[in-house]
Amino acid sequence: MNILVCISQVPDTTTKVKFTDNNTRLDTTGIQWVINPWDELSLTRALELKDDASSGVAKVSVALVGPVSTEPTIRKALAIGADDAYRVDTEALDAYQVAAQLAEVVKAGSFDIILCGIESSDYNGSNVGGMLAEFLNYPSVSGISHLEVQDGQVQVNREIDGGREMLVLPTPFVGIVQKGIAREPRIAAMRGIMMARKKTIQLVDAARVEPLTRTLAYEPPQPRPACKFIDPDNPEQLIALLQNEAKVI
Ligand SMILES: Cc1cc2nc3c(=O)[nH]c(=O)nc-3n(C[C@H](O)[C@H](O)[C@H](O)COP(=O)(O)OP(=O)(O)OC[C@H]3O[C@@H](n4cnc5c(N)ncnc54)[C@H](O)[C@@H]3O)c2cc1C
Repeated sequence: MNILVCISQVPDTTTKVKFTDNNTRLDTTGIQWVINPWDELSLTRALELKDDASSGVAKVSVALVGPVSTEPTIRKALAIGADDAYRVDTEALDAYQVAAQLAEVVKAGSFDIILCGIESSDYNGSNVGGMLAEFLNYPSVSGISHLEVQDGQVQVNREIDGGREMLVLPTPFVGIVQKGIAREPRIAAMRGIMMARKKTIQLVDAARVEPLTRTLAYEPPQPRPACKFIDPDNPEQLIALLQNEAKVI
């Protein structure tokens, strides 16, 4: 059984987001790129399953849609333990175009479980997993918080309103994962970093797919007003501010 983890590269969460070209493009100057946190957790779970001989998982691959500048992020995934990687050589433009490119990787390979994160922490579209399943005509399951594989038999848990749903799934399928899939992301050890240098990143030519969306402009949120400090011995001032300024009482 083979698992493909789709990974997106996103700015580190401490990044001060700025835009360029009339606020139509992200300004990538000085951005520290990381693996999307959901994808790091999916990869961790996939590797845990591979480590467990009774699972029947033989290989864990990763796929990323992005230009050559994304290769350090792919190498991180290989250093964490992925066996090999695919990079579709094109800019990621929107969820539709990304899902279409990933579908070509899946069709050309031999994967039983395809994992996507519930969202990418940059554009937060939550679209790629569902669209990918549609392009492939595979079933998809969203909100997976636990994935178990025993002798090739797949079981997932989904968080549902007020409870948990356990499903046994046929393969192949697209799994869209959320919190709980792994406890902590696996960290690359020195041996993994050395081994990653020898692992293959297979370059995939981009399919001719146009994005469905066009960004008109991004608008940063209004800067937060400065904090007001109130003397703890002066509750009247707090009440006056809540009444007259915040108008909440
Ligand atoms: C500099 C830069 C500028 C960008 N500009 C735009 C833009 O203007 N508009 C825009 O929509 N997108 C843009 N992107 C692409 C964006 O990062 C996403 O890859 C893409 O839009 C899908 O995002 P989403 O929020 O819909 O993904 P989601 O559906 O939220 O992602 C869910 C999951 O899909 C998979 N996934 C998502 N993206 C990829 C990927 N590239 N490769 C492999 N798997 C992936 C991952 O498993 C992820 O956890 C830009 C990226 C970069 C680096």
